[in-house]
Amino acid sequence: MSLQSYLKQFEPGHFLEAASDFHFLVYITSIDLVPIKENIKHLIDAIKAKDMLQAYHWREEQPWATLEQLLQENVTGLTSSDEWTCKQCTYINQGRLVCDMCGYPKD
Ligand SMILES: [Zn+2]
Repeated sequence: MSLQSYLKQFEPGHFLEAASDFHFLVYITSIDLVPIKENIKHLIDAIKAKDMLQAYHWREEQPWATLEQLLQENVTGLTSSDEWTCKQCTYINQGRLVCDMCGYPKD
């Protein structure tokens, strides 16, 4: 699932809930487009404190604000979470459920 479709599941006021997902945190720190890694501890502090307001402010600040803008513009390269490596031939596939090279299923 892409980050964009993940975030769409949550109402704007539920960002803290969205951000509390461990996989979400791991994923956003892996995005190289924006320097989130240095900034993420502020978000984690907000999650630990269940401080919705702090999480909300974090969302409006850089670099997250830039990232959300990029998402809205449908920038390609943010769907890397959909990448998977074929167990059969090690080809790196994007999104599909069977390998593009050899037809081996994803799971
Ligand atoms: Zn394959």
